[in-house]
Amino acid sequence: MRKIFHFDSPADPYVADAAVLCCFDARISQAVRKFLHKQAIERPDLISVAGGAKTLASPRNDFEQDFILEQVRMSIRLHQTKRVLVMSHSDCATYGGLAHFKGDRAAEAEHHRGELHRAAQLLTAQFPDISVEPYFVKFDGVWEVLPNARKQNLAAD
Ligand SMILES: [Zn+2]
Repeated sequence: MRKIFHFDSPADPYVADAAVLCCFDARISQAVRKFLHKQAIERPDLISVAGGAKTLASPRNDFEQDFILEQVRMSIRLHQTKRVLVMSHSDCATYGGLAHFKGDRAAEAEHHRGELHRAAQLLTAQFPDISVEPYFVKFDGVWEVLPNARKQNLAAD
């Protein structure tokens, strides 16, 4: 091998502040990064895959769901993760974008609320000792998904 870039990375073992499952869409990555910083999550185990929460809520196949659950399991095992943030975002291509909802942001948000809820339920069932937090990332920021009993209107912005 031949060194082509110098950068000093921290080599000490770490405890992850959270595992973060989110879409690899570059348009939202800075918002996610800044949100994690605001949440004092400095050392996340990032699971950045197409669709984010969709891989658990409506996976394309069984392999996809199992693979992502295994990633979370490894974050817990290897980095003592106690918290999982699960995210999806507006205009996500894996859902056919906002166009799939005919441009109706309220309908899109409502659909994602259901998806995030289902993904969170699955994570809670698999990892009962872990705190699970679902979030919807829009182009104006990050929205918390509240439990069904306190159903809110994500579109009310
Ligand atoms: Zn996406």
